[in-house]
Amino acid sequence: MIVLVINSGSSSLKYQLRDTGSGERLAEGIVERIGDRAHGGPADHQEALEQVAKNIDSALEGKTIDAVGHRVVHGGERFSEPVLINNEIIRAIERLNPLAPLHNPANVQGIRAIAEKWPDMPQVAVFDTAFHRSLPEHAWRYAVPGDLYKKFGIRRYGFHGTSFEYVTQRAAALLGMQAAQFTGIIAHLGNGASVTAVQNGRSIDTSMGFTPLEGLVMGTRSGDIDPSILLFLLREGYSEHQLDQLLNRESGLRGLTGHNDMRSVEEADDPAGETALEIASYRLAKYIGGYHVAVGGAQALVFTAGIGENSWRFRERVVKRLGALGVFIDDAENRKKSDSPREISSEDSAFPVLVVPTDEEAAIAEATAAVVGL
Ligand code: ADP
Repeated sequence: MIVLVINSGSSSLKYQLRDTGSGERLAEGIVERIGDRAHGGPADHQEALEQVAKNIDSALEGKTIDAVGHRVVHGGERFSEPVLINNEIIRAIERLNPLAPLHNPANVQGIRAIAEKWPDMPQVAVFDTAFHRSLPEHAWRYAVPGDLYKKFGIRRYGFHGTSFEYVTQRAAALLGMQAAQFTGIIAHLGNGASVTAVQNGRSIDTSMGFTPLEGLVMGTRSGDIDPSILLFLLREGYSEHQLDQLLNRESGLRGLTGHNDMRSVEEADDPAGETALEIASYRLAKYIGGYHVAVGGAQALVFTAGIGENSWRFRERVVKRLGALGVFIDDAENRKKSDSPREISSEDSAFPVLVVPTDEEAAIAEATAAVVGL
């Protein structure tokens, strides 16, 4: 029941060694600068993996790795569950490359590196999109000609699914119910941020779309904008690459304040930061209002990930906008620091507001163990 969890990017490889029996994190780390030998990085993913194997050796204490679980960003329309990886699955993940050109090829490089080093190692793919396969058509389809869906797969896929599923289970447990009974709204607020409407334990709408660019104001991504802005800028001479950089790396909190990190924005305490936090909290509050309708009356609102778990200021800004829903925060509870799932709403709140720490690696390790049957 020792699972190595791999999150393989194009130039970095994040790993955690987990014991799924005890839930313990035995080792974790990141190998960076893959392909950048000039700066001391490993030549490729194979070499990066050798470094990982060396780093985890002492934590293994002579035990062996039972299985490897991979975070795979895009599972397209096919994958709604974690799967045991074989050659056909690898090809299926590669067929989705056009939908996630930065992520899926890098995920496959991680899978191939493991297969090369440990040919008999069971490997499992856990997809970031899988939890959102339950979206109804009225939520996943864009109002564009149907050909675009048929030809290119243009639709809402949604991301952060592993986190939303894990947090659904933990929030339900905190409320004393089964995950299948949980109906509420979960805001995953990290560098990337998205919010999901959960009805009876299933995702029925989510703010990220065809790519992780849609929806909330993020660290460096704009979230929702009028698509005509792109056309306007194209006519003004912007290139495809510039637009990509602009919306994915230079917008969001960074575009508004110069800082992409929430702590820096909060500490700066200047008018630009104040405006950015108002825009970001207003955007999220609008989604919460919309998703309250989508789920037919939320029974809980949950905050998770770096900002959601740690920034009481941002939580306060968001919940203060929800008076029309009858949702109120308890200032003292909201400001308490804790690593445990907890309730931060006041007694007269129409439904509870929770903070539930996410742990995507634990979820991937557990899913991997379940698929492999350990
Ligand atoms: P990722 O999407 O990279 O996994 P995280 O979930 O770690 O990101 O979230 C990172 C974000 O959380 C950053 O914007 C960071 O500033 C913010 N954050 C972490 N700790 C705090 C804190 N104590 N107060 C405010 N923001 C915080």
